[in-house]
Amino acid sequence: MSSRSFASFGPVPCRTEDPPTHDALLAAFLSSLSVEGAACSVLYSAGVRHFLHWLDQRGIALGSLDDGIVQRFEKHRCHCPGYSAHEKVYKADIAARVRRFVRFLEDRGYVDVTDDIDDFGGHLAAYSATITKQQFAKGVAQAYRSDAEHFAAWLRVSRLAWADVDPALIERYAHHDCRCPVYRKRGKLVRSGTKRRRRCARRFIEFLRGRGVLASVEPVADTDSYMSAYLGWLKQHRGATAETIRRYRADIARLTPMLGEPSQWDAASLRRAFERRSKETPGSISLIVTIMRSYIRFLIGQGECRPALLHAIPSVQRYRLSTLPRYVDAVTVEKIIAACGTRCPVEVRDKAIILLLARLGLRAGDIRDMRLNDIDWRAGYIQVKGKTRRPDRLPLPQDVGDAILAYLASARPKVDEEHLFVRVQAPFRPFSSSAEIAGIVSRVLERSSIEGLPTGSHIFRHSLATNMLRAGAGLESVGTILRHSSPETTAIYAKVDLPMLMKIAQPWPGDQSC
Ligand SMILES: [Zn+2]
Ligand SMILES: [Zn+2]
Repeated sequence: MSSRSFASFGPVPCRTEDPPTHDALLAAFLSSLSVEGAACSVLYSAGVRHFLHWLDQRGIALGSLDDGIVQRFEKHRCHCPGYSAHEKVYKADIAARVRRFVRFLEDRGYVDVTDDIDDFGGHLAAYSATITKQQFAKGVAQAYRSDAEHFAAWLRVSRLAWADVDPALIERYAHHDCRCPVYRKRGKLVRSGTKRRRRCARRFIEFLRGRGVLASVEPVADTDSYMSAYLGWLKQHRGATAETIRRYRADIARLTPMLGEPSQWDAASLRRAFERRSKETPGSISLIVTIMRSYIRFLIGQGECRPALLHAIPSVQRYRLSTLPRYVDAVTVEKIIAACGTRCPVEVRDKAIILLLARLGLRAGDIRDMRLNDIDWRAGYIQVKGKTRRPDRLPLPQDVGDAILAYLASARPKVDEEHLFVRVQAPFRPFSSSAEIAGIVSRVLERSSIEGLPTGSHIFRHSLATNMLRAGAGLESVGTILRHSSPETTAIYAKVDLPMLMKIAQPWPGDQSC
């Protein structure tokens, strides 16, 4: 879209006392289009003259124009002298040109439109500048710009106010049958997809809200008042981190719709709900039990549900240290690292992430939350917050430091963002969940074509611990590196050395010959 289109949404100039003649209006309109070439002018001129003649015939005043009138014009059975040849022309094309003319009249103040935003052109230009700053690919940036103007044009054609914009209205816009008077190549209607319209309109509205032009909407509060009271309590009295609260909210929100109001809960429905959830995510059922017990205890304390329900939640049988941690040997870890390429920014970033995982045994969440100033380059330390609120300082190995430096120097987009790792595509936001780190690990494994390895980013953490133990390190030092707050957590690695365990295992009495 050109800057010319922005200007047309500028402040409405004051009307002169005498309304100009149709000829003068047409001339002004055509000169506003002059950049589009002479051939185009002729087409516009014929269409608009026809429209003005039709208006005259029906005694419709220019000031009362709206899209309903343009639609009537589009459908009229033409007997207008001199113009009836237009019957044979594709009428949508003529109507599209007439709509541009109507928009011109609105912009110049000849047709009353209630613009509830002052200096719209200014905001649009500021939006365009923001889009440029966010370094999108050219086509994407252009889509954001032109669809912002399209949305504005659609609102005006539909005679809707900015103050009325809500998700339902954006949905209507996304699906509208487009006849909007926006700039189009050779005046042709070009359909933009539903998804694109929705995404672009949302972004623009968010921008206007951020500037205070539109009233900002309160973030959607938890509709469940019991749950929001509980989460508030978790935060304030238990000091739960944002990640914990996110997890608790998600799990409670998935269970409560099956249960209804807490006062109605009974043992049978609770058990049924658990059974269903345990089938959906069998791996995390013990965490769900913990979450629901905590929630029910809170509700009992508030007098919102019956105390006996605490015993209704089934226990999950789980033996401590019953499984072996999955790991890969040191040679394979080195192979994975060696297979990380540095040909493009994604590969440079992924290599730095893999090295952090492999050398320091970081959790995916640690990588996601890492900030630029967590690294003390002078002292050679990196600060990691982990699951607790207490940050730990870990020494930064040479190869990890080199990989991060290479990322900062050549691959990290130049953005105003505190997070160390950001996405490679504009607008270069930080990762929103640790699952994205797991995704990076699986892509690296795929690229390295090393097959048959366990998935997930934790594999590096397990491997680091296991390989340290095998190299003769004590459990205590492994616990320090992994930043375990309790030695019991580290104890899981005490059983990984199967060959050594075989040596010290006592023969089973039944095997002895008598
Ligand atoms: Zn006609
Ligand atoms: Zn449209």
